[in-house]
Amino acid sequence: MTEVPTPTRDLYERYVIPTYARFDLRLARGAGTEVWDEAGKRYLDFGAGIAVTSIGHCHPRVVRAMQEQIGTLVHTSNLYYTRPQALLAERLVRLTCAPGPPRGKVFFCNSGAEANEALYKLARKFGNECEPPPPRHAVGECITVDANRHTIVTMDGSFHGRTLAGIAATGQEKVKKGFEPLVQGFVQAPYNDEPALLAAVEAPGVAAVLLEPIQGECGVVPATASFLRAARTACDDGGALLMFDEVQCGLGRTGDWCGWRSIAPEVWPDAVSWAKGIAGGFPLGAIWVSDREVTLKTGEKIALCNLLGPGSHGTTFGGTPLVSTGALAVLAVIEDEGLLENARTLGVFARESIAALGSPLIAEVRGVGLMLAFELVPDFAGRVPSPTGRAPSLMVVDALHEAGLLTVPSGSHAVRWLPPLNVQRSEIEEAVGILRDVLARLA
Ligand code: PLP
Repeated sequence: MTEVPTPTRDLYERYVIPTYARFDLRLARGAGTEVWDEAGKRYLDFGAGIAVTSIGHCHPRVVRAMQEQIGTLVHTSNLYYTRPQALLAERLVRLTCAPGPPRGKVFFCNSGAEANEALYKLARKFGNECEPPPPRHAVGECITVDANRHTIVTMDGSFHGRTLAGIAATGQEKVKKGFEPLVQGFVQAPYNDEPALLAAVEAPGVAAVLLEPIQGECGVVPATASFLRAARTACDDGGALLMFDEVQCGLGRTGDWCGWRSIAPEVWPDAVSWAKGIAGGFPLGAIWVSDREVTLKTGEKIALCNLLGPGSHGTTFGGTPLVSTGALAVLAVIEDEGLLENARTLGVFARESIAALGSPLIAEVRGVGLMLAFELVPDFAGRVPSPTGRAPSLMVVDALHEAGLLTVPSGSHAVRWLPPLNVQRSEIEEAVGILRDVLARLA
């Protein structure tokens, strides 16, 4: 007698720690922008694993490159040199600096939270070991700069990951609850509020500002160009580092390799973190650090990108030959298939198509490139009551699932569209049609 396999969901309930409130979907395979569940139902995947499968599922070029590499060399540790990691570092530095000459260096890790950890450590080392800038004003109205600077200013509404330092950096109370005492040295300032940011950076002891050029986890909120410019000026004046968390918005999602360049191309950060789409679904994180000169308290001058020296930071898996090969293939596909342009053009098309639905349930459509969200009207719960008290964004996402479209909720009222960068116009038309029908039914 053959044994009936235990259903996937039952296995989860029995064996997986319940940190996620999962949707009741059991996904089995994917190709391009499509995924299929265990029962064979097809979905258009406009969540892309939360901005991760940046060139869709199982792109043949990535599959080929990884298959070849998996039979060649998977892992060696970071005690040795491997060619794929070296080539990937070069590529990331080049695309960050293009069209200028490649400057700065990269460190590899495994996730967005870890990439941000590397930024926090860079900021701490900078604050502890580098000379503070001279006081900026005459004595009397003096704003002194603390000799021991270790505060990192982050933004209200931000999300930087789930490590202990990540939740201290994150500007959302819900991620911190129950995990006190929090890691010290993080303060939050209001996003897109220039005077408030200036005041926060002028406080004694600030080593760095960390911000998302487009906040993802609070409903896709882009920074204004003037806020990014003000952040650069405040950091220059206060002798602090300006660091961008591009874990969600970076590497093509906005239609530019650098998310901030879609908003304020003239602004240069001192460091950037990446993860999510960098390797199209394989776990990889990285930071880029600029080569600007800094002065150590010993008087020695070094490039900022050499501040994290041997023994100061590391991780077993970061940048294995296998994952680096995958990332190189993903970045090559984005380049060769013109996907930055695709993200820009189809991003506008998607945004305009959702807005053109004129749904009384949608208050706003916003975003940059293919990092989009629509905000449901504040009185959604009054118009479409939920018998179970489910949040409006979840009700819409549930209904879209039912109709064959995967999207990602963001907070209580926003729904994100983060399709792969090689999404087709016809797939956007299909998704907009599904959304139209779902909203009409709910309304
Ligand atoms: N930073 C941003 C902007 C993110 O959106 C996320 C994840 O959503 C993270 C950091 C954390 O990344 P990970 O989940 O890979 O640790």
